[in-house]
Amino acid sequence: MAKQDKNNQDNNNNNFFNNNPLLAFAIFSIVIIMIFKSFVGDGEGLGNMLDGGSSVTQTKTVKYSEIKSEIAKGTITSVKLTPTTIEAIADNDGRKTRFIAQNVPTYDKDLIPLLEEKNITYEGIMGGGFISDLLGSLLPILIFFGIWIFLAKKMSKGMGGGILGAGKADKLINSEKPDTKFDDVQGVEEAKDEVKEIVDFLKFPERYMQLGAKIPKGLLLVGPPGTGKTLLAKAVAGEASVPFFSVSGSGFIEMFVGVGASRVRDLFAQAKKEAPSIIFIDEIDAIGKSRASGGQMGGNDEREQTLNQLLAEMDGFGTDTPVIVLAATNRPETLDAALLRAGRFDRQVLVDKPDYDGRLAILKVHSKDVKLSAKVNLKIIAKQTAGLAGADLANIINEAALLAGRFNKKEIEQSDLIEAIERSFVGLEKKNRKISEVEKRIVAYHESGHALMAELTKGATRVTKVSIIPRGLGALGYTLHLPEDEERFLKQKHELMAEIDVLLGGRAAEEVFIGEISTGAGNDLDRATAILKDMISVYGMTDVAGLMVLSRSQNSFLGAGAVSTDYSEKMAEDMDNYIRSTLNERYIYVKKTLNEYHQAIENMTAVLLEVEVIEGKKVREIIDTFEKENNMESRLAHGAKIAKAEAADKQDAED
Ligand code: ADP
Ligand code: MG
Ligand code: ZN
Repeated sequence: MAKQDKNNQDNNNNNFFNNNPLLAFAIFSIVIIMIFKSFVGDGEGLGNMLDGGSSVTQTKTVKYSEIKSEIAKGTITSVKLTPTTIEAIADNDGRKTRFIAQNVPTYDKDLIPLLEEKNITYEGIMGGGFISDLLGSLLPILIFFGIWIFLAKKMSKGMGGGILGAGKADKLINSEKPDTKFDDVQGVEEAKDEVKEIVDFLKFPERYMQLGAKIPKGLLLVGPPGTGKTLLAKAVAGEASVPFFSVSGSGFIEMFVGVGASRVRDLFAQAKKEAPSIIFIDEIDAIGKSRASGGQMGGNDEREQTLNQLLAEMDGFGTDTPVIVLAATNRPETLDAALLRAGRFDRQVLVDKPDYDGRLAILKVHSKDVKLSAKVNLKIIAKQTAGLAGADLANIINEAALLAGRFNKKEIEQSDLIEAIERSFVGLEKKNRKISEVEKRIVAYHESGHALMAELTKGATRVTKVSIIPRGLGALGYTLHLPEDEERFLKQKHELMAEIDVLLGGRAAEEVFIGEISTGAGNDLDRATAILKDMISVYGMTDVAGLMVLSRSQNSFLGAGAVSTDYSEKMAEDMDNYIRSTLNERYIYVKKTLNEYHQAIENMTAVLLEVEVIEGKKVREIIDTFEKENNMESRLAHGAKIAKAEAADKQDAED
């Protein structure tokens, strides 16, 4: 208890300066300038400058009159004058003394005649004195200002407390009473169920305490970024209508040792004062990293102190204090085991990426605040966004609203949403990037090659859109295959092989139709190679290694992507040979196919060059027309599927 009081006092002291930043600054400046002056000495810097460093043993700052009387005495040998200062060197049997006087009366007309009379060498230095004077007194202030601004910026980022408010936490600790409700959080039903009992406890703490029930103190929300962990924590507070104190783990780690720990103390003190309440620690991995794993150089002590304080606080209040600590992380495996022990964060709740129904529900929540056209079909949008988190979906709605706004539409249309999805998948459209006609032609053939193979190969995903408009960095064009089924966790072997054929389609088209290959296929080949490598070494899909797994990814020490290679050199050679020969074999097949569909590719490329973007439907139409004209049997791989998918879309629209 006594400890607590002392803290409050410290905080009050800090408050004084916090509330008077100008005063604090003035005191600081004066101290610093005084220190600076005492180091440099008044005119000394100037003296050295003029003297060029001769063998002067002593420097005295004196009054002008004293220098004049020294001159009269005859001890002075030389004099240097500036408009405002005078410097005289006295020579007492070889011991040189420098006298310096500032604030010289410039109207002293007797000085020069006196010097002449005593035969003293003198020289005047125009302006030098003034400028160096100015520098001498301004420089420290300027430097100090620079340091001040630098520090102030650094401070305010982390704690908003000002330089002297280092230990004060209220500005960093966010306190609010959110009106978020469980209905605002969708697609994470299991997680919601798990936190519901907390709401009840916060609402009616007496019920539970009277029974002696032990309610969990800490609950860890685990899941990928953007899945709604923060939102869920807020919703718990909102549903229970209790105060919500939130901090971010990374905000704890500051440059001053001890700050983090004192913040933790403040945080818990505040939360207890307003109990029942919720404490939310975002990115807890920033402080709760396993101590054994260690951080990068330094900063470790601070983190450890903060972590220890957190553990102490969590142990410090009993289950009779209705304060619940929620924490969020996307890397639970890095957390210190001490944090996960009983009585701390002993419960973990998974907040995962939403499935189809979840995505649909999230899209609905977020489209409440915008104007959607009645024709918009969110089911199609949900279908096409497998793998995206809630935050991405919220972003897509917003992006679509921005797009619609740009075209001065009254409502958001389906096409805006589709465009927004594409943006989030492929990066921003950059129509303004100039590409040459030659490049455009190469890209058009290349993408047509991909598109054709995607449509003709069983197991490949059908084409949604082909574009030769460069998007984002690196990609000159792209063939978009949006996943049509809602979610795919498994891939069959023939689908992987199909992917390889599609990837090779780009390069093959360049060779067949342009007669020369380009660097444009680099990424495709890289991916094709990686697929084969995984088939051999991870999935046991080939005869090269049979069912033996050859590579296990290792983390951190060797850097990302490092894999253990504990297999024989012979195996490595077999693997290389297999990959090379398979790629060659597939490449020959792909070229043959492209040749068989020569005119189809030409047609597709011509359309692409003209309109730059074509839909998957158009691609299939071009291929279909070509096959019919040549009395070929249709090789379109997704015919049946398309019919089914389009029927399903129609059904959705009618719902
Ligand atoms: P996290 O904390 O998991 O990184 P956030 O809770 O900060 O994710 O999510 C950011 C935003 O994305 C939220 O404010 C909300 O608008 C939206 N969002 C994320 N997940 C969901 C969800 N499950 N339901 C509704 N909206 C969500
Ligand atoms: Mg968050
Ligand atoms: Zn390509």
